[in-house]
Amino acid sequence: MSDLKAKLGLNVFKPLPAPHIRIREGMERDPRLKAAVRACPAGLYAEGADGVFTLTIDGCLECGTCRIACGTGVLEWGYPEGGAGVQFRFG
Ligand code: SF4
Repeated sequence: MSDLKAKLGLNVFKPLPAPHIRIREGMERDPRLKAAVRACPAGLYAEGADGVFTLTIDGCLECGTCRIACGTGVLEWGYPEGGAGVQFRFG
């Protein structure tokens, strides 16, 4: 396991009732999402062989990098409701 994955593994994620970040409907093949694949520090974006981008929200650090990298034209971006989402643990 890489140092980064080990460090990220210290965080705790409280389940969300609904994803706080979503790829907008119909935008799953938008090339702007390539920036999120490269920039998301938790590696939550992926591009499939069929050119469809996916986001796995579990593990999101709520850093906003994908919002800056891709823009809100392609992403619906918000913070989780109170008490849900990431709890940072430092070790
Ligand atoms: S907010 Fe940060 S950690 Fe969460 S999906 Fe976007 S880039 Fe990844």
